[in-house]
Amino acid sequence: NQAQISQAHRNQTLAATVPARGILFIVSAPSGAGKTSLVKALLEQVAGLVLSVSCTTRTARVGEQDGVHYHFLDRAQFEREIAAGAFLEHAEVFGNHYGTRAADVNRSLASGQDVILEIDWQGARQVRTQFPEAIGLFVLPPSIAELERRLRGRGTDDAAIIARRMAQARDELTHYAEYSYLVVNDRFERALAALTAIITAERQRLAYQRPRLAALLDPLEA
Ligand code: 5GP
Repeated sequence: NQAQISQAHRNQTLAATVPARGILFIVSAPSGAGKTSLVKALLEQVAGLVLSVSCTTRTARVGEQDGVHYHFLDRAQFEREIAAGAFLEHAEVFGNHYGTRAADVNRSLASGQDVILEIDWQGARQVRTQFPEAIGLFVLPPSIAELERRLRGRGTDDAAIIARRMAQARDELTHYAEYSYLVVNDRFERALAALTAIITAERQRLAYQRPRLAALLDPLEA
């Protein structure tokens, strides 16, 4: 009928002017699982996917650039942004503040890009309250023994620091069941293939495809 036709027409006009929204992916892992290298490789392989650059109060490590790896803020700046409600989520990890600016994420999603948040389980919980449709991925080490070996292998840290990192890693691990996908990083290439497959599959879902295939699908509604 006429109402349906004009509705289909409005949808088509809307689809032509407003890009379909992107998917929000949350990737968490205990430190030592290899999450950061996997996400970096993923971004190089998959088009239309961007990493949200977090804010942190920790000091930059060698090779880290402000605005690329993190936005490095001092505590006062960070706390002002918390008070202003700028963060989609924020949490304290290893005694430092970490947070995701809401405006950056919303802008990317609205422009149709898929966004990865590399955040801990506390942040993931906060994000789910606002984006229940966000897709959670958790990267696991092949075993606790291997995780410990990787954390030790990082360099010259003393036993107390390693023990603290291990405790933190175990704590992160206990939250695996809050995620939809578990990816074991036993071999890098296999874990990367699994992450790529998840993103590819999520992009074929009805809700994602329908607005993107408006030209093909809308005439079928008439
Ligand atoms: P690192 O200091 O080693 O880069 O990160 C330490 C931990 O902080 C990691 O578990 C990482 O996932 C988490 N993290 C990094 N950025 C954010 C963020 O924006 N929000 C939250 N909640 N955690 C973050």
